[in-house]
Amino acid sequence: MAHLLKKFAQKAVAGREVVASEKMERQIEMMQEARLTRLTHTLKNLSNGWSDELDRDVEFIRQTGFARSALKTARKFESKIERAAPGTVRRVTRLDGLEFQVGVRFLRECADYLLGDPQGRERIILVSGVVTPDGVRVLSTLEKVKFDEQTATFVSANQADLQRKLIELDRDGHPWLGMWHSHPFGTGIGGSAPSQTDMDMQNRFVAAGCDTIGGIFTRDYTVRIFGTGKPLKVHVFGEGFTTLSESSHELILKLEKA
Ligand SMILES: [Zn+2]
Repeated sequence: MAHLLKKFAQKAVAGREVVASEKMERQIEMMQEARLTRLTHTLKNLSNGWSDELDRDVEFIRQTGFARSALKTARKFESKIERAAPGTVRRVTRLDGLEFQVGVRFLRECADYLLGDPQGRERIILVSGVVTPDGVRVLSTLEKVKFDEQTATFVSANQADLQRKLIELDRDGHPWLGMWHSHPFGTGIGGSAPSQTDMDMQNRFVAAGCDTIGGIFTRDYTVRIFGTGKPLKVHVFGEGFTTLSESSHELILKLEKA
């Protein structure tokens, strides 16, 4: 089911089936609401097998969320073309990859929190934000999650809390843009290198169709933002940082501390 929705959404993005898409979106929305009700019920009655049920519901909501936003994007895209005056060149640029924007002050806020554990342990956050009409993902909201396990070299987010936060983001129509964590004992480019666990996690998100990006913050405020799927471009807004390295899959910079 979710697979079909995704297919339909991709077709819609390609600029077809747009008229039917609004009706389709309403149907998806109704299905999502039914699922959310069931999910709330599941959370209230943590019976045997609740975890599996929760996973299925979250997956459904995530997939349908993707379908809905793709349908919306497709309609915006279509109306932009329709509005162009007859005879003018209708040139619509499609990004080859993902484009992000982030402000220095937000990066510093993330660094302060991620590296702020009194016992020097790792922390992890969800990152959300907004998407501009031309598709730039603005990384601008820090979403704290509870931890299950937390040491100086390892952190795991509490799954139930994580899922709850993702559902809240989806409810408010905000995208899940990143999952960032700290390496409190690392410094510089080397210290910000993703571990095998970090790469595995990032690859799992990509395999699930999420366009989320990873972020690693070290003790000296070196920040590595990286992806393992589509090529990415990160624009940094503001003053007070030095770019250390940049490629189509990552950006490494050093923030000046406030
Ligand atoms: Zn790590």
